[in-house]
Amino acid sequence: MTRPHVLILHVGGTIGMRRTPSGYGTHPGHLAELLQSMPELQRPELPAWDLHEFDPLLDSAEMTPDDWLRIAETLVGRQNDYDGFVVLHGTDTMAYTAAALDRLLLGVHKPVVLTGSQIPLFEVRNDARENLINALTFAATPDLHEVCIAFDDVLLRASTATKVSSFDLHAFDAPNAAPLAHIGVNVRWTRPPTGGAQGPMHLRPHERRRVLSVRLYPGLTADMLTNVLQDPIDALILEMYGAGNGPRDPDLLAALEAAHARGVRLVAVSQTPSGGVNLADYETGQAYARVGVESWGRATTEAALAALTLSDKEQTLMLEPSHEAS
Ligand code: ASP
Repeated sequence: MTRPHVLILHVGGTIGMRRTPSGYGTHPGHLAELLQSMPELQRPELPAWDLHEFDPLLDSAEMTPDDWLRIAETLVGRQNDYDGFVVLHGTDTMAYTAAALDRLLLGVHKPVVLTGSQIPLFEVRNDARENLINALTFAATPDLHEVCIAFDDVLLRASTATKVSSFDLHAFDAPNAAPLAHIGVNVRWTRPPTGGAQGPMHLRPHERRRVLSVRLYPGLTADMLTNVLQDPIDALILEMYGAGNGPRDPDLLAALEAAHARGVRLVAVSQTPSGGVNLADYETGQAYARVGVESWGRATTEAALAALTLSDKEQTLMLEPSHEAS
């Protein structure tokens, strides 16, 4: 059997950073040198791999939707040369990129596995080696036809993941969905990969939209909201309380209604990490539904942001309609 061949796409992030006088920073060629010095990466249990480094390498805090597109276009362009892909990415916006790639890429018939680390690979004690080896293994799993994040002890579906810690090595989780797999002594699949997707991988036709995200909090006033909702804003993600509640402040509701009347799409997600919104549940939620706020169920802010930023022309969205859905 021929050894699978994986492309490691190095976008940036802590995993490949080195120490500089002003803190950790990216440096071209640094990760390539480190990888060459790791004999275990040549073992036959792992796929053969090539490294493609982005220019410039990015701290993921600096990424924009243009970078999501650049990654997606690279994956589409190289799909016939490899059996799977590892995307090495900073942790800060990895969940956004994962959700965006999941949204952008159609016909994903090979694994696309994002990973990174909390401690750079050059440090003696690091989580980078483990995460990279796990990601390479998943990228060589032939039936894993989706975009996912492999980090610490979990493999997560792209659109369910969120960064849950800036200090712990368990940095990602999907508080609202079962992981695809637990990575322990063995890999325990919750949803064994079934394959079957048809290629070729291609980009979803989309229109770029300008999206604003606002978290409700006691003290948010109508004039503050009106100020940030000035044109050109196409959509607002409202992170509501609990199951989809907010203050029944008539001025605040009027500000939302006015934005909606101007064509601003209003979308509710929950600010609780687990659960979701159903605006029908409470009077306080229904008041928001009446002014045009849509209930986006269990969607994470990252997934909602990716879906709205990369909107279909007709804006149909494949997300759960309510928190009743499993
Ligand atoms: N600031 C870094 C980044 O997101 C953090 C990390 O990679 O863990 O690129």
